[in-house]
Amino acid sequence: MSVEEQLNDVLSRIQDSETHYGREAGSVALVAVSKTFDAEDIRPAINAGQRIFGENRVQEAQGKWPELKAETPDLELHLIGPLQSNKAADAVALFDVIETIDREKIARAIATEITRQGKPVRLYVQVNTGLEPQKAGIVPDETVAFVTLCRNEIGIPVEGLMCIPPADENPGPHFALLAKLAERCGLDKLSMGMSGDFETAVQFGATSVRVGSAIFGTR
Ligand SMILES: *Cc1c(COP(=O)(O)O)cnc(C)c1O
Repeated sequence: MSVEEQLNDVLSRIQDSETHYGREAGSVALVAVSKTFDAEDIRPAINAGQRIFGENRVQEAQGKWPELKAETPDLELHLIGPLQSNKAADAVALFDVIETIDREKIARAIATEITRQGKPVRLYVQVNTGLEPQKAGIVPDETVAFVTLCRNEIGIPVEGLMCIPPADENPGPHFALLAKLAERCGLDKLSMGMSGDFETAVQFGATSVRVGSAIFGTR
């Protein structure tokens, strides 16, 4: 299948899941994850109407998105990979949404750049729901305090929470935990679900799903 066909297939599966799980039609946004793919692989998805994309590396994204954004100004680019504070300026300049805020140092660096560049960037806090040592994200027990710190002390608005469940576990309990933490924080946006589990994520309240290989093919 072409990228356009696979994109439409994913979109119709999202719609079916919304109906099946009693979610409002159109309440789940698709973030098309284009990491490792070139501008020429991504253009068919843009031409088919997709506007929200996700990348996991700042430097890789800098090599393709300035050109694609110039061609199609209403694109929305999400950073979904780990962020180092020395990349904060570049990340704020290029991305519209940063989904991987997970520690005070990064939150402060992003806050400084948002002010310095005068660029509004929407932010999500990444939660390490599986307590995996190799994975980024704040631990669940510290999430409410961290979101409060971001809001009240650092002065950045947090829009929602994001998680990547352990690859070898049933994702449902992780999605449920993220939803519960978001509710405690007074947040209503949940970025969760990938190619293998986005329908389950819709069931548990995802407001955006991040889908790569089901659209662009295996990496
Ligand atoms: C790569 C990636 C995705 C997409 O994964 P697929 O299994 O290809 O759909 C989603 N979220 C994050 C954080 C990723 O790095």
